[in-house]
Amino acid sequence: MSGGLSTDKHSSNSRRLLSADEPGPFKTLNPLDEQPILLVCDHASRRFPKSLGDMGLDPFARRCHLAVDIGAGALTESLAASLGVTAVLAQYSRLVMDCNRELLDPGAFLEFGDGVVVPGNRNLHQSDKDLRAEVLYWPYHKAIDQQVQRLRNIGPGPAFIAIHSFTPVMNGESRPWQMGVLWDTDTRLKEIFLEGFSAAGYHVGDNEPYSGKAPQDFTIDHHAEAIGLPHVGIEIRQDLIDDAAGVAEVAALMHQIIASIPKRIEVNQQRDTA
Ligand SMILES: [Zn+2]
Repeated sequence: MSGGLSTDKHSSNSRRLLSADEPGPFKTLNPLDEQPILLVCDHASRRFPKSLGDMGLDPFARRCHLAVDIGAGALTESLAASLGVTAVLAQYSRLVMDCNRELLDPGAFLEFGDGVVVPGNRNLHQSDKDLRAEVLYWPYHKAIDQQVQRLRNIGPGPAFIAIHSFTPVMNGESRPWQMGVLWDTDTRLKEIFLEGFSAAGYHVGDNEPYSGKAPQDFTIDHHAEAIGLPHVGIEIRQDLIDDAAGVAEVAALMHQIIASIPKRIEVNQQRDTA
C-alpha cells in the first residue's frame, strides 16, 4: 500500500471488463488516517471501461448528470486532502453500474433517465450484470467495509458522509435548493450540516431534492444504518461545483462543518448519557 492512496489490483476475471492499463474500481485516499470520519463518493467518475465502448451514448450523454455526479468527486478529493480524512471513491460511471442501488434495483443498470436512453444497458444479459457487479460494485463496497471496520477498531464508529451532486433541472422541473441534507434514522449529522449550510446563507433542502428515507440509498443503508453509524448524505447542486472555484468555495465550508463533527458528537453523547 503506498502512502496516501490504495487502489484495487486487477484480478484475472476483471480483465474481461477492465484492461491492465485502466484504473481499478475504486480509490481510497488517506487509507490509514485515524480521524473518525469516512467520506464516500459513489458517483465520482464518468469513466467507462474501454471494453464497453461508448455504450451507444453520445459524448454529451457520457458527460451528463446521469453518467456522473458533476463536481462531487473533485469536492470529495478536496475535502480528503484538506482534512486528511479517509475517502473511498468509485472510479467508473454510474451508467456502467450504479453503486448506490441494490443489485436487483432496475436503476443499478439504468436503461432510461431524464430523456436519455442507454443502449448499452438494454436487454443486458445476467452474466454481464454479474461481471460488472463482481468487478466494479463489490470491490468498491468491500473497500468501504474495510475502512468502516478499520476505523471502528481504532475508536468510535466513524461519521459516514456520502457526497453527491444533483442537476438543477430534472425532467423539466427546476429545483430551488442549492444543497440537500439527506438522512433517515440518524439525526446527529443532519442537524450539524443543516445548521452549517443555512448559517452560510445557502438554501438547504431537508431530505430534498431526494429523501434519505428512500430505498434507493443503498450505500448509507448498507454500510452505516445497519450498524448504527452517524450518517448523512450531502447533495450539492451541480452548478455550484462545476468548476475549480466553485469546488473550492463549497469545500471550504464543508471542511469547517466536518472538522466540527467529532467534538459535537462527543458532546451530544455525553449529554445523552449524563
Ligand atoms: Zn449521486
